[in-house]
Amino acid sequence: KYVELSPIIHKVIGNLQINTNVHHITFTPLTENDYILGDRSKIEQVFTNVISNAIKYSPNGGDIHVKMYEKEGQLTVDVEDHGLGIPEEALTKVFSKFYRIDNSDRRKIGGTGLGLAIVQEIMRSHEGEVNVSSKYGEGSIFTLTFPIVEGKRKETDTEKRNIHSGYKIFVIEDD
Ligand code: ATP
Ligand code: MG
Repeated sequence: KYVELSPIIHKVIGNLQINTNVHHITFTPLTENDYILGDRSKIEQVFTNVISNAIKYSPNGGDIHVKMYEKEGQLTVDVEDHGLGIPEEALTKVFSKFYRIDNSDRRKIGGTGLGLAIVQEIMRSHEGEVNVSSKYGEGSIFTLTFPIVEGKRKETDTEKRNIHSGYKIFVIEDD
């Protein structure tokens, strides 16, 4: 099924922003060509897990930027925080089931270590990827990439007018 990514991310941010007032979450969407082939609720799960980590592992607050762009034929979303960061030796492990970083800076932060393993599994099942770059003590960027769906786009103003005048020349099915 085709799903439009920007509204899903908007919704997830709206839900998560309610639970924090020390973080300001900004979102730069792509409003054109932001369709992917996938499962709406699983994609929601991906962004919920990654953005809630950004909140949880930034105990001192700070801005969280969610930025969407096209890169090398992929629809790409960066989730950037200015939190605890991830030590270099842990970068490859954070996607493993039940892996949690056991450092004094996050001993009191709860979790099961499953969130990112689920994200990786869902991204792979969508022929996408999740990657991370981070500087310990400064923050992290989780990058999600999806294959772009060609030829799927929003109707232009002209096309919209034609639809309203009865000539349905360009149809977007929602699901
Ligand atoms: P769960 O998501 O299952 O409730 P969790 O958050 O511990 O538990 P993951 O989301 O899989 O598990 O993350 C694994 C580990 O990676 C975390 O324990 C945390 O130490 C580290 N981590 C994840 N996201 C970030 C982030 N944005 N900044 C710093 N560390 C992170
Ligand atoms: Mg988590």
